[in-house]
Amino acid sequence: MANYLFNGGIVINNLYPVNKVEIIQASLPTKIVLPLQQFGGQTKPCVSVGDYVLAGQVVASPKGGFGVSIHASISGVVLSIDKQTTVHQSELKSECITIESDGKDKWIDRKNDHVDFLHYSTEVLIETIQKSGIVGLGGAGFPTHVKIGKVVDCHTLIINGTECEPGVMCDDALMQFHPREIIRGVEILLHICGAKRVIIAIEDDKQAAYQALSMFNHNDKISINQIPTKYTSGAEKLLIKALLDVEIPSGGFAVDKGIICQNIATAKAVFDAVINHRPLVSRIVTVTGDGVKPNNFEVRLGASFKHLVSIVSPNNQAHNYRIGGMMMGVDVTDINIPISKTTSAIFVNNQVLKPVVQECIRCGQCSEVCPVRLLPQQLYWHAKSENIKDALNYNLLDCIECACCDYVCPSHIPLVSYFSFAKALNKQQTHEQNRINIARERFEFREYRLERNKLERAQMMTDKKKTLKEKMAKEQSQKQKIAEAMQRVQQAKDKK
Ligand code: SF4
Ligand code: SF4
Repeated sequence: MANYLFNGGIVINNLYPVNKVEIIQASLPTKIVLPLQQFGGQTKPCVSVGDYVLAGQVVASPKGGFGVSIHASISGVVLSIDKQTTVHQSELKSECITIESDGKDKWIDRKNDHVDFLHYSTEVLIETIQKSGIVGLGGAGFPTHVKIGKVVDCHTLIINGTECEPGVMCDDALMQFHPREIIRGVEILLHICGAKRVIIAIEDDKQAAYQALSMFNHNDKISINQIPTKYTSGAEKLLIKALLDVEIPSGGFAVDKGIICQNIATAKAVFDAVINHRPLVSRIVTVTGDGVKPNNFEVRLGASFKHLVSIVSPNNQAHNYRIGGMMMGVDVTDINIPISKTTSAIFVNNQVLKPVVQECIRCGQCSEVCPVRLLPQQLYWHAKSENIKDALNYNLLDCIECACCDYVCPSHIPLVSYFSFAKALNKQQTHEQNRINIARERFEFREYRLERNKLERAQMMTDKKKTLKEKMAKEQSQKQKIAEAMQRVQQAKDKK
């Protein structure tokens, strides 16, 4: 039963409110950069440097069944296939395809058949979703065809229309301006997974979005539920708890309980792919912060942050750039990095001095707001002293890095940084331990093999000696018999 409640979380007012939510079409970028590394693994380029490509054309294919295709989002010429800086805190470089626009935005031929999706089999629809490059657009980027194709006995499909972070309004805009496409996209997902019901979850401060979707929803299986606006209600496990009162255990998955969660923007992308035969080549990005006038933009994938930021004309101050959100986002310094399928927002804030970090005063506020009932203060001590074993005992790996604890900490301790560091250290130690275990197993096996060879050789020598001895004894016995026979013959001759 829905109680719309979950433990902890915080209510945060949008620091950068707008009078009217809009979607502005961003101008065509002059260049795009498409990373080949996706959530589902590496993809293989199917174009070469110098090739002319059309918008919507596949430029890289997944190496395995887990990944999705990558498409050119503009028409133009492939400039390079090499390492470029992409969206990651480390700002490490990874293999990318760079395309220079010809400014014409020429598209591949797309079918215009308007066949009812109910005529397509589940397999065809799943393949279409994969080939259209669709991944979860809420932030994780998990391949949609894998998630939707994996579930067995699905009873509930949850469509997450909650904004993941305060200040982000890209999904709100999508729901207000594309409600018909979203509802049809949800119906396609419903047709594929065969759920008994669909719940579209929207925060209760998004009345316009709620009204728009309600107007286009005529499907008895689809209900639209408003939930209290509270960060982090958009986190999958917390949303399931709030809507269905079902706990997904630590390390467990919603699909194991017959539940699938998809983002509202993913439903729209599914509509575009199946009905309009349009692959995923653009997304809505919120550009906000106190350095700009906040708004939403539909922008081609692979366009640089710089391209988008230049459209909003930031003020003349020095800025900090953050992608994803003020809570769980990542600070970036290089704004030439490309917009990816999971870039929901860019925060452009005026640079301010960071507050001084002080000692923990054991106030316990961090525990009160933790939505997964952890003890951040304890985790902090263990992470700080690099005591990973004890941090794991305090369920370090269950931390969703929502930053609620950071937000309320009066000592301004960057708790999440400690937790992500501890997780990385755990990963490194586990990797190192696995490496040591493998090396030890190899050594033990070598020792065992040497000992076994030694024993086998000793046994072989024993067997050989025994055989030789037996052979000699046999020969001796035969010689004896011959001598005795000759002696008998001689005796017989002597008697004559
Ligand atoms: S909120 Fe900060 S100061 Fe208070 S207990 Fe947690 S870590 Fe310590
Ligand atoms: S970041 Fe981790 S420890 Fe802190 S409130 Fe969120 S889940 Fe809890």
